[in-house]
Amino acid sequence: MLTRSALLYLSNQEGLKDFVTRFSFFEKLTTRFVAGENVEAAVSAIRELNAKGCSASFDHLNESVTSAAETEEEVREYLEILARIGESGINSNVSIKLTQFGLEIDPELAYRNARRVVADAARRGNFVRIDMEGSAVTQATIDVFKRLRAEFGLNDVGIVLQSYLYRTMNDARELLQIPARIRICKGAYKEPAEVAYPDKKDVDANYLNVMKLLLSSGIYHGIATHDPKMIDATIGFAQSEGISKDRFEFQMLYGIRRDLQEQLACDGYNMRVYVPYGKHWYPYFMRRLAERPANVWFMVKNLWK
Ligand SMILES: Cc1cc2nc3c(=O)[nH]c(=O)nc-3n(C[C@H](O)[C@H](O)[C@H](O)COP(=O)(O)OP(=O)(O)OC[C@H]3O[C@@H](n4cnc5c(N)ncnc54)[C@H](O)[C@@H]3O)c2cc1C
Repeated sequence: MLTRSALLYLSNQEGLKDFVTRFSFFEKLTTRFVAGENVEAAVSAIRELNAKGCSASFDHLNESVTSAAETEEEVREYLEILARIGESGINSNVSIKLTQFGLEIDPELAYRNARRVVADAARRGNFVRIDMEGSAVTQATIDVFKRLRAEFGLNDVGIVLQSYLYRTMNDARELLQIPARIRICKGAYKEPAEVAYPDKKDVDANYLNVMKLLLSSGIYHGIATHDPKMIDATIGFAQSEGISKDRFEFQMLYGIRRDLQEQLACDGYNMRVYVPYGKHWYPYFMRRLAERPANVWFMVKNLWK
């Protein structure tokens, strides 16, 4: 059986994409998690979500870009998305990854690229969320975020923290002082025990502690999870502290627990769905498989059909 860690390893082997896409069933599985390969497909997925009472966040899939020219294409893509949001009237913000903007080439390049997107979003009254990637770039990501936050408002740019990292509670406390809007998630990358809790129960316990800190701050944050235990605890904590439903939002990934997404929206909670699209869907897709072995069984069974 493929383990989480083997799947996370395979998520870094982009060459495998050519092999797996030979199987037609694979398309069926990818379209469950990825809205499509172009912006049109993402816009239509977001319209459907909006009709169900959910807002969205665009994510153009393309990690670990290796040339400055490619980062320019990414910036243009995001400027186009922001324009499309404005024209179409859909309810969505955008999520970016700094490696997409050149963080591993030169942090200054990533800052300048991200700045262009945040400035455009701010001008349009929209919001940019900076996703958090592997622990090798955690500090660099926070540093770029702080520079942007010094120039732009609380409601222009926000960041993500991962509860599997030991450092996260300290980061959360420090970022709240700025103040900052934070999305808390469990964390999706393969991390060593030197930096991240190896046991899920510790990741979950840390998630709950950070969630409580965020909700108590009075700032509007994102509680990103599909885990009913985390969701129930968030609802319970908000109720016991008299924090109203409009003071935070739940966030989930496209195609995962659609039933729960609709239920929470129906119950009057702010529900945002992260909508990934683009040609470079392979690493994102593999991380989603790593989170749920049942999806791998579906793949393996179909390999022989
Ligand atoms: C909006 C959003 C943004 C995110 N941004 C980041 C980010 O910037 N950086 C980062 O490292 N991670 C990010 N993540 C991913 C996150 O870190 C987790 O890897 C992912 O959300 C799974 O954790 P969980 O909280 O859902 O709990 P888990 O304990 O992993 O899962 C709880 C339950 O959710 C369901 N579920 C979870 N994943 C799947 C799946 N793939 N397929 C089917 N069912 C599933 C299952 O029922 C499972 O039992 C983001 C997640 C969300 C929702």
